[in-house]
Amino acid sequence: MTDIDQLRNKIDDVTLQMLRLLKQRTDIASQIGNLKRNSGIGVFDEIREEQLRSEVSLLCREIGLEEDLGKKFLNFLLNESIKVQTDGRQTHLTIFAKAKSLEQQGKKIIHLEVGEPDLAPPQQVKGALAEALDKGFVRYGPAAGMPHLRSALAEHFSAKFGAPVKQENILVSPGGRFAIYLAMSTLLSPGDEVIVIEPAWPAYRDCAINAGSKVRTVATTLDDRWEPSLEQIEKTINSNTRMIVLNYPNNPTGKILLPEIQDKIIDIARKHDLYVLSDEIYSEYAFSRWKSAASSNYEKTIVTQSFSKSHAMTGFRIGYTVADPKIIDIMTKLQALCITNVAEPIQYAALKALQADTSGNVKSIRTKLDVIISEAKRAGLEFVVPDGAMYVFANVPKPGFDGVEFANRLLNHGVAVAPGEGFGSYKGFIRISACQDENKLKEGMRLLDGALRENI
Ligand code: PMP
Repeated sequence: MTDIDQLRNKIDDVTLQMLRLLKQRTDIASQIGNLKRNSGIGVFDEIREEQLRSEVSLLCREIGLEEDLGKKFLNFLLNESIKVQTDGRQTHLTIFAKAKSLEQQGKKIIHLEVGEPDLAPPQQVKGALAEALDKGFVRYGPAAGMPHLRSALAEHFSAKFGAPVKQENILVSPGGRFAIYLAMSTLLSPGDEVIVIEPAWPAYRDCAINAGSKVRTVATTLDDRWEPSLEQIEKTINSNTRMIVLNYPNNPTGKILLPEIQDKIIDIARKHDLYVLSDEIYSEYAFSRWKSAASSNYEKTIVTQSFSKSHAMTGFRIGYTVADPKIIDIMTKLQALCITNVAEPIQYAALKALQADTSGNVKSIRTKLDVIISEAKRAGLEFVVPDGAMYVFANVPKPGFDGVEFANRLLNHGVAVAPGEGFGSYKGFIRISACQDENKLKEGMRLLDGALRENI
């Protein structure tokens, strides 16, 4: 056997041994997951992870392995554990799917779980769809979006959010969700770290994990009025950190950061050369002082926007990204690969929707939110009055309360709510959406209150 053959045999052996160890590790992670589930302990444990991270650093130094590589490998292993332990995790979408299935069986459900305004899309949209056919917008188009729409969006964004942008800063995508997926899939590499401030919309974590990246959580609390600690953000950053995600007005808490605090977070990102992914889908529903992250003039900022909430166009599946042209270009390449382009009739409808006055939607959501706020107070729920968005994120002050169990049982009473656990380690919380008409909201809250009192 030649030297190279011998070494190849050795390397194969090591690789197969590593796979056996990976299987062993995953089985143990799964057993830990079962124990956590049975004792009501959350999946994520930053303190434990940090301890292991220190041990890995120490070992790397001892054996002469590059520390960054060791930590990236650890991130891969931690993600595998998280995947097995979160398999079957219940989010607002799980409850939404169950509610829809009950409706198909003829049961009436009041939807307080999903963020879908019951408002009509703008009038302009109706005619636009027919017009798009007449005008021949029925073919393949440029991957980044129709030039007309991109420049109208640039104009709209510049005027509305005080951040001058041009057509080349815009990418039109099928909804904010896909824009976030594109940003994370193109800007992150396996082993990279992303900071997510929790509670958070679950797709940030899922998209990051899908890109092979590790999510580092900065948890916020009701007691701290959902204010993230700048110190904790700084402490969480290391040489593998690539991105921080912001979402204000926030889903699920409705929190809006003071512009000065948001600027400080962006300064931290700038100092550490991180991307800032700012999901601003609820900007239309900002009921206190709010500022787009794009106005900070930091070239690694990616803002995602959507017509879903502002224009009540969830079913049209259209949103957009605002970022540096270099970022737009790489995201566009992946979009072209996945979907070619957003359907042109839908893009044309969005172009016309931009002309609509959406202030009625804002008033309506404000009124609905006020209904939920007063009913939730009456029911004795604990929450911070939201600064924006369309939700109340409330703690249920009952010993041992489990949001997942409650949300599932409440379905039998004809009401759907989102369990807090879908947004992080918030077992005692539920998220209530203000998206139905006022009577339904009142009825839903009455049933919810009754269910809590009767201890169902
Ligand atoms: N971001 C947040 C915070 C959301 O709550 C949602 C939808 N609920 C989205 C993005 C995605 O919206 P869409 O894909 O419909 O634009």
